[in-house]
Amino acid sequence: MQTDVVNNLNQVRSELPQTVKLVAISKFHPVEYIEAAYSAGQRIFGESREQELKEKVEKLPKDIEWHFIGHLQTNKVKYIAPFIHMIDAVDSMKLLREINKQAVKCDRVIKVLLELHIAQEETKYGLTFDACRQLLADGEWKTLTHVQICGLMMMASNVDDVNQIKSEMMSAYDFFNEVKAKYFADAPEFKERSWGMSHDYKIAIQCHSTMVRIGTKIFGPRVY
Ligand SMILES: *Cc1c(COP(=O)(O)O)cnc(C)c1O
Repeated sequence: MQTDVVNNLNQVRSELPQTVKLVAISKFHPVEYIEAAYSAGQRIFGESREQELKEKVEKLPKDIEWHFIGHLQTNKVKYIAPFIHMIDAVDSMKLLREINKQAVKCDRVIKVLLELHIAQEETKYGLTFDACRQLLADGEWKTLTHVQICGLMMMASNVDDVNQIKSEMMSAYDFFNEVKAKYFADAPEFKERSWGMSHDYKIAIQCHSTMVRIGTKIFGPRVY
């Protein structure tokens, strides 16, 4: 294997505090790479395309916790509902409703994170702080019996300026505390702060991340 997946994985692990979960982002990488990481003990993997995910799920061990990290179209939810552990990037009530509907059909509870839009880049998905406040204030989410909102997710701007990355992550942290106090004070499952990727996970750890999503640093560059 060209990329030394196990070595890279162990390197990343050695840098993460015990309290930070590692989601190994395997999108665009072959099943063999996932198997290598699996045999080194990794059980949480993230994918961004439902077709690719489905194919991989069929070939890989059943105790993997799969995260869907990409933008998910509502009409695709049904394909992943039977097995997905967490959907990390929920950015609308419409999507949340559909996840609940499909989860009911599968008689499962699906964990989700609400995705915040903080980065400067216009192409990124996610809820602004105000849109997220609105969604939570509206209260419909409380009636959804088969989704569990477990926290927040965000991507910082893809820049070299460490201070900008920090300030974006810290504003996500402040916002987490705000909504935790207002809506989830009695919900212990609302605890995840998912920020940090290959280029900024060390900063994310300083900014109270509980869940990093790392691809390139473990599996090497993606071939699209
Ligand atoms: C691809 C992706 C990652 C991983 O990115 P790397 O730079 O390869 O670590 C993390 N989060 C999301 C949402 C992604 O789409």
